[in-house]
Amino acid sequence: MNMLQNIRIVLINTSHPGNIGSAARAMKTMGFTDLVLVDPLDFTPGTPNEQADAMASGATDVLHGAKVVQTLEQAVEDVAVVLGTSARSRHLPWPLMHPRQAAGKVMEVLANKEGLCDQKVALVFGRERTGLTNEELAQCQVHIHIPTNEEYSSLNVASAVQVLGYEVRMAILAHQGKLDADYSGQWGVEWDNELANQGEINGFIQHLEQTLVDIEFLDPNNPKQLMPRLRRLFQRAMPDKVEINILRGILKMIGKSRS
Ligand code: SAH
Repeated sequence: MNMLQNIRIVLINTSHPGNIGSAARAMKTMGFTDLVLVDPLDFTPGTPNEQADAMASGATDVLHGAKVVQTLEQAVEDVAVVLGTSARSRHLPWPLMHPRQAAGKVMEVLANKEGLCDQKVALVFGRERTGLTNEELAQCQVHIHIPTNEEYSSLNVASAVQVLGYEVRMAILAHQGKLDADYSGQWGVEWDNELANQGEINGFIQHLEQTLVDIEFLDPNNPKQLMPRLRRLFQRAMPDKVEINILRGILKMIGKSRS
């Protein structure tokens, strides 16, 4: 099941076509394609629009595939869970989440429904100047606030789409087990060398200690904590075999240059 296709982005009454283009780009980078515009100003999908096309860059397919409707009700008619975003708090308290919690909620809806893979989730974004109306927010089961600077809390609408899109994508990748501890991303890059084993690290530490004595940096009669500290440093770095060889090569040359 492709969970990404069940996420709908709804933009309400957007006044700058450039923002619609930017939102389409933000969506495509995160793998979303379902864009619904509620009564946008100066924008008709499928018709060239200089600002929107420019900001969409390579995401004009998402931009021109957008559907236009007249009301939020129409935009979410076939949607199971509607999440609305707001930059400021409103009078009537409502279930409120930050984007990461909201992404968890999205996963609950998408992941539980093996047999009902058409269940959709909508993320709703408001007008550039005034956001969503209280009536529109009341149509959303949950409100999402991006924890921004309290003194300047309002993101550009396409930036808000990017933040939410990223969190939802991360939640989906985690659910699919693609964010393991040894994350190697979509490039599948493995570490290029095997880690040094303890014998090799010990050999290096002894070699280092001898060199430090030779160059009179370490006084063997008063060693203090120098060697345990250096050991801690190198162990923390988890050097690989090639790195240990390089370090030992350097120590060898120091020895040679002194003889
Ligand atoms: N004064 C408006 C700001 C609108 S910004 C308001 O009170 O909401 C345009 C849209 O971007 C908002 O409607 C919302 O969808 C999104 N947005 C901007 N900043 C946000 C934030 N900090 N948290 C959640 N959504 C935000």
